[in-house]
Amino acid sequence: MDNIIVGIVSGKGGVGKTSLTASLASLAGNDEEFTPIILDCDVDAPNLSIILPPDSDIEPQKDDTYTTIKATFIPDKCVHCRSCIDDHYCEFNALTWDEEKEIPNIDYLKCEGCGACKTLCPEHAFEIHPVKSGEIISYDNKYGSLLIFGKTILGSTTSGKLVSEVKEFAKHSDKYQSSNLTIVDGPPGIGCPVIAMLTGLNYVIAITEPTPSGLHDLVRILELVDQFKIPFSIVVNKADLKSPFQEKFKKYIKDTKYKILGKINFDYAIPEAMSYAEPVVDYAPNSKASISIKEIYKNLKKELKNF
Ligand code: SF4
Ligand code: SF4
Repeated sequence: MDNIIVGIVSGKGGVGKTSLTASLASLAGNDEEFTPIILDCDVDAPNLSIILPPDSDIEPQKDDTYTTIKATFIPDKCVHCRSCIDDHYCEFNALTWDEEKEIPNIDYLKCEGCGACKTLCPEHAFEIHPVKSGEIISYDNKYGSLLIFGKTILGSTTSGKLVSEVKEFAKHSDKYQSSNLTIVDGPPGIGCPVIAMLTGLNYVIAITEPTPSGLHDLVRILELVDQFKIPFSIVVNKADLKSPFQEKFKKYIKDTKYKILGKINFDYAIPEAMSYAEPVVDYAPNSKASISIKEIYKNLKKELKNF
């Protein structure tokens, strides 16, 4: 079997994406049919590692990434003409004037690396260089799989590129060739990081909840998934929520005929498992939520038989 790549997405944050991913990762890690790799591509807020910590005393491998470019200033070349400030070279207001030294300062967080200052300074006193923008961290986790995740650092402007680097890193890992399933926890939203995450996926699970914002963001993410022509199904979390919106939500599902992979009713076992930082299928294996997630896993396996 080839390595099948399954992504879990939600247009909206906070609907249970990481919680579902962690449980699916645990179930796949304990399933002799699979040798899974788990990717956390929510690089601006990666927290799957909290629920899937390293196995015993394994030291995680860390690799720096340089996907962001920023301006640097070369003081020796500057003739203190002040043109960079007076002629407003920087559209991002990243340049300010140091009255004492009579040189420009670059605000690292505001600099977008656009290169205007480098092009415009007559003395070539600016250069553009890649800077450390994040890390890729990997280790064997205690639930039986390799976990790889990216983490941006403050001021990085290239989350999408880091997502692509995480996926490339996984493909070049020793375990990738022997792995037959990759489970990817996606970033929320529909922006650049999600687009980078969706590229090359074989199957998508979109998790949502029957609320106005849940449906609104589900529609947006499925429009995006549709652009990629990736087969997908839906998991409805908090499916039994008492809400006047339930009817509208059910009508949408009925009208679109989208496939429901499974439903998870509200269960205190989920927030409890999260507070103990464990996948709910391990924390409370017999809870209603765990039984539903095991059913979802079984249905997912049926879907993957088509690949
Ligand atoms: S950095 Fe360039 S434009 Fe700015 S003061 Fe120095 S020489 Fe002039
Ligand atoms: S590279 Fe662009 S954003 Fe950065 S300081 Fe220069 S002009 Fe401003």
